[in-house]
Amino acid sequence: TERTLSIIKPDATKRNLTGKIVSKFEDAGLRVVASKRIHLSPAQAGAFYAEHAERPFYGELVDFMSSQPVVVQVLEGEGAILKNREVMGATDPAEAAAGTIRKDFAVSKGENSVHGSDSPESAAREIAFFFSGLELV
Ligand code: ATP
Ligand code: MG
Repeated sequence: TERTLSIIKPDATKRNLTGKIVSKFEDAGLRVVASKRIHLSPAQAGAFYAEHAERPFYGELVDFMSSQPVVVQVLEGEGAILKNREVMGATDPAEAAAGTIRKDFAVSKGENSVHGSDSPESAAREIAFFFSGLELV
């Protein structure tokens, strides 16, 4: 079975939506195998999103991701990476399909409630960014 990294973003933790979002993962057959609530520093958020450093929205993204606590989780299941992306919906909530997390909860293209790894390589990197081997069973 595959694993992927999920982040419940500040707009969602602030509105107390963590449980509702986790329910959507579980209803889709994904299992939470690691979870913690942390408050990223701007440097940590910047390092996590380093691939977007040249994008015009990078500064806004780093400020947002370090503005409030987030919940970082490892999700496990068959095809977990793609399945998580399906449950999340499109980046822009206006384009997200019915029933997806971003359709139901996202505020905007920037404040879009969740992050999910987009490939096996990014999943491995992102899981290792937040969790040590001891925290993963
Ligand atoms: P994520 O990587 O968070 O799972 P994604 O893969 O759907 O989302 P990316 O293109 O990787 O989207 O962008 C990373 C994040 O940057 C988005 O989730 C969003 O929070 C923010 N972002 C992307 N495009 C914009 C934009 N045009 N304006 C503001 N913020 C944006
Ligand atoms: Mg992405």
